Amino acid sequence: MLFELLKELEPFQASLVAVSKTKPVEAIQVLYDEGQRAFGENRVQELMEKVDRLPRDIQWHMIGHLQTNKIKYIAPYIHLIQSADRPKLIRAIQAEGEKIDRVIPVLLQLHIAAEETKFGFTEEELQDFFEKDPPDRFDHVEFQGVMAMATFTEDQEQIRSEFARTKAIYDQVKAAYFAGNPAFKECSMGMSGDYKIALEEGATMIRVGTLLFGPRPCLLNP
Ligand SMILES: *Cc1c(COP(=O)(O)O)cnc(C)c1O
Repeated sequence: MLFELLKELEPFQASLVAVSKTKPVEAIQVLYDEGQRAFGENRVQELMEKVDRLPRDIQWHMIGHLQTNKIKYIAPYIHLIQSADRPKLIRAIQAEGEKIDRVIPVLLQLHIAAEETKFGFTEEELQDFFEKDPPDRFDHVEFQGVMAMATFTEDQEQIRSEFARTKAIYDQVKAAYFAGNPAFKECSMGMSGDYKIALEEGATMIRVGTLLFGPRPCLLNP
């Protein structure tokens, strides 16, 4: 499946994060041996247990809601925190980056889904945040773009419009705050069920678990 998926991504020049949450290190090693390097986890504890048992050159992505007191456990090595979903967390990432003298890459998680349970900035919240705390104040955070999850629905047109909106917000934020900053370039959207739509709507990075690793026990990760 990995090779088929990578081939599909090629014309879009998009990258793949293999979402390995709940999956054993053996399954991750199989994809690693096939050449995959970017893996996504959503729990700090689980990530920490896996890191030591897998090759050093894996690029680990944090894709789940992150508590500020857990940042220190991943700050030294995390490749990209995709779930920077609130001002307090970003300020805490900045503080930790200062402490360990590392610039930590993040994506701004946007709340675009209809569900209330999904985390992230609304367009207004993000604007308010950067008006008060302009991005250049965060010299130990590298903003690399945005991440979003669509509503869990069968309605393809709703999903499409949410991804289109994510791309539009990305473009606006880029123009307003990151014009001329080549690091701000990622629009991370699309999962197993909706990545094709995401690519058509401008995703530069997709996050795929089920399609690569098989289904997860649904009680653990709905
Ligand atoms: C679990 C998860 C994914 C992958 O979902 P699949 O449907 O298994 O591909 C992608 N992004 C986030 C934020 C996730 O939590």
